[in-house]
Amino acid sequence: MSRQITDRFGRTFDYLRIAVTERCNLRCVYCMPEEGVAFQDASQLLSADEILRVVHVAAGLGVTKFRYTGGEPLVRKELLPIIAGTRATPGVQNIHLTTNGILFSEAADALRDAGLDGVNFSLDSMRPERFLQMTRRTGADKVLASIRQAVALGFPSVKVNLVAMRGFNDDEIPDFAALTRELPITVRFIELMPFDEQQVWKRGNFLGVDRIVAALRTAEPTIEPSAGSSTEEHVFQVPGHAGKLAVIPAFTRSLCGSCDRVRLTADGQIRNCLYSDREFDLRAALRRDASDDELADILCNAMAQKLVDGWAAQREAESAGRQRTSMTQIGG
Ligand code: SAM
Ligand code: SF4
Repeated sequence: MSRQITDRFGRTFDYLRIAVTERCNLRCVYCMPEEGVAFQDASQLLSADEILRVVHVAAGLGVTKFRYTGGEPLVRKELLPIIAGTRATPGVQNIHLTTNGILFSEAADALRDAGLDGVNFSLDSMRPERFLQMTRRTGADKVLASIRQAVALGFPSVKVNLVAMRGFNDDEIPDFAALTRELPITVRFIELMPFDEQQVWKRGNFLGVDRIVAALRTAEPTIEPSAGSSTEEHVFQVPGHAGKLAVIPAFTRSLCGSCDRVRLTADGQIRNCLYSDREFDLRAALRRDASDDELADILCNAMAQKLVDGWAAQREAESAGRQRTSMTQIGG
């Protein structure tokens, strides 16, 4: 391997998360206000060709894993050609999608054919009334059907992410754990993060990793430790179940030491940490016809400046005054 993306703390970055839009067909209460956020004009967002140029440069720096996110990535019309173009890029190994699943069923076959390897579905409640309360839209059944369809189509990786919240969906932890009985999926319980203007997370709904793990043990007393991905700190399997359970310390930030990811916002800014507000402008470089080497320099420089962990990044962002207030602008 020639040049790689590394930082001062010995971390190597081989995973790029790309937001392809800021828009969304849901309005999850912890993510966006009812009226949405100030969406930028399409001309401000990277075009499909610009995204694929970044993919090409990143792959040349040893990035092998790519995830498309948003906003809701399936509302972006060029998502299929973007995925197909990523698949055709030398060096790319894994391509994943994070979606709310509402528009998945119509696109499922084409996504598989374009070379998508994995899908993470976000579903915070399986109960229609509660889903409506949470997302301000209907569709719990649609998302569940999409999850089953993804499994049936044989996507190598299918995961369900839910933000676990006290007094909201913690009573569904047993139902979500039960989904892994028949389905070969990983159900991942994620801590709420402080990224919304309305600060839902301050309203006493926060449920930490330890409490989530305790609730899982109560729901499924026979769970055993299992292996998972780098962001899954606690991974379990119920003996005999087809799928796995995982807990993600998103707020607790205990996995920063092994962080391997670079983030690209829909408007072409590199972020070296989810909790950081510093941005490195790839869009400007792309639009002045910078060479691949110049783009590679911007990527490497952005990650070289990464702080030791998400706590340090948050302190820095707060002292500077946070710029973006919704996860839909960062990509999650
Ligand atoms: N629309 C897609 C979706 O919902 O999967 C992709 C983008 S969404 C911003 C990516 C992930 O971020 C979702 O799983 C969502 O639940 C999560 N997210 C958004 N705001 C969050 C918050 N304040 N705390 C924790 N997770 C959050
Ligand atoms: Fe949309 Fe995803 Fe944010 Fe929900 S979490 S509003 S689905 S971007």
